[in-house]
Amino acid sequence: MPGGRQAGGEFSLIARHFTWPTPSADLGVGDDAALLRVAPGMQLAVSTDLLVEGTHFLAGTDPGRLGHKSLAVNLSDMAAMGARPRFALLALALPSVDDPWLSAFSAGMQALAGAHGAELVGGDTTRGPLSVCVTILGEVPAGQALRRDGAQVGDEVWVSGTLGDAAIGLALLTGGDVPSLDATAAAACIRRLEAPVPRVELGLALRGIASAALDVSDGFAADLGHVLERSGVGARIEVACLPTSAALAPFAGEPAVREALLAGGDDYELCFTAPASAAGDVGRAAARAGVAVTRVGRIVAGDGLVLVGSDGRSVQPARPGFDHFG
Ligand code: ADP
Ligand code: MG
Repeated sequence: MPGGRQAGGEFSLIARHFTWPTPSADLGVGDDAALLRVAPGMQLAVSTDLLVEGTHFLAGTDPGRLGHKSLAVNLSDMAAMGARPRFALLALALPSVDDPWLSAFSAGMQALAGAHGAELVGGDTTRGPLSVCVTILGEVPAGQALRRDGAQVGDEVWVSGTLGDAAIGLALLTGGDVPSLDATAAAACIRRLEAPVPRVELGLALRGIASAALDVSDGFAADLGHVLERSGVGARIEVACLPTSAALAPFAGEPAVREALLAGGDDYELCFTAPASAAGDVGRAAARAGVAVTRVGRIVAGDGLVLVGSDGRSVQPARPGFDHFG
């Protein structure tokens, strides 16, 4: 990139912070492009996510957590496709070169990348308002990806982990409506917001079992709506079944918590469908991945999402989900 470059600044910054081992790339950081090989019979799953300060994360967010999250949201997309993450690219706009900040950011990202065998093979670095864009490349055997368009009438709807914690974490940090959590529960919610755990192993384990999948990033109801739309089906969800963390369970009746369960963003859990006959396989896949999964409803004919409360009446979230232009 031309312009705004200090002599040696940009390149030594990349050398100091973003030149990590890339054992499986033919060529990693340092040339005009990386050179990668894809095994025969595999498809590349490719996704990118842009995180902008003030829009996707709060100014002053811990850099280690930001490094983690910037990659985690992309790994979550690989999980949702049933793809194994292989390579990442990092495009970074920085207001200034702050080495302690960059070290912490890089360490947070590198730790998560290492845990999933993802290698950073390139990127771009420029001066500008803080924003982080990671592109991820993963591999999946051709035809085996978990897509949004495969849900069938009669399938069961499942969710991994727990929902709503990240939205409550955000409300805690921004002075929103929150239940009276103790310090431990509050910290757990903020950790869910700032350092989400991508369900990569679960996504891999669900290949050949799930009929459709996506990751919950904008809110459960809105995201499940994408599966329904792509698959041309409806769903009936039991709101009381939505998995709630130990931190939020005591407050499950409160409107702010119910809203977080249904419409809170940033959970990065997987929502997937599978035939009822595959429930045992789903359970074994989840056990192998070390993640809890919960059955929350069924796919039905039609095109709507019906959310049923414990009294049998239908409920609607006040806000369907997060939409930057909504
Ligand atoms: P070009 O001018 O060809 O775009 P750059 O000067 O932007 O090349 O980048 C030099 C090398 O450093 C390239 O291999 C690029 O992929 C890599 N790179 C740049 N920024 C980053 C970053 N933030 N993380 C990882 N690699 C980076
Ligand atoms: Mg460049």
